[in-house]
Amino acid sequence: MSEKPEGEIQEIRLGDCPICGGKGTLKALQYVHEIPYFGKVMESTIICERCGYRNADVMILEDRPPKLYTVKVENEKDLFTRVVRSKSGTIELDEIGVKIEPGPAAEGFVSNVEGVLERVRETLLMARDFRKQEGDEEAVKRADEILQYIEEVKNGKKPLTVKIMDPFGNSALIGEKVKSRLLTQEEIKKLSTGPYIVYDPTAEGGEENPE
Ligand SMILES: [Zn+2]
Repeated sequence: MSEKPEGEIQEIRLGDCPICGGKGTLKALQYVHEIPYFGKVMESTIICERCGYRNADVMILEDRPPKLYTVKVENEKDLFTRVVRSKSGTIELDEIGVKIEPGPAAEGFVSNVEGVLERVRETLLMARDFRKQEGDEEAVKRADEILQYIEEVKNGKKPLTVKIMDPFGNSALIGEKVKSRLLTQEEIKKLSTGPYIVYDPTAEGGEENPE
């Protein structure tokens, strides 16, 4: 999955850390590279040398209007569909009711559908543990069903519709089967910029659009 390095890693000193107050301990590492058949992206990670705070983001350097990208994952090859997700991007996994939304702890990344499924799986396992401690058997069962579905998607046995939307046009899906169209003003308005990180599908009656 590795790509030939196109540019060099640039280090930028950012100053004091807002988390621990370290003097001049905050820096950013930036790395520009080209994704074939797509264009240049810049990955950046902010790091505090004192407290270990880290936050990653990604930016598309070409002119990209805000779009909705969709891909229907139906076989193992589709799992390699590229995913560029910036902190402002919302990812939806239709069949399992999972939504990854912007928020303070959101991170940007360049990965593929398989990588996104792995992130979701890890989050679900944590949510499942929490629900189990609470004694919420119904939610545990629901989490198990979703985890099972994810396994089947990974084995090419179940379909999964993956969508990504970004009001700033910094997120995209890249691959042969990907379809895209411009987002409407209405859709842009509805996109969350709130504190919700991952819509927890194990929560009964969860709202898709929390106010
Ligand atoms: Zn710090």
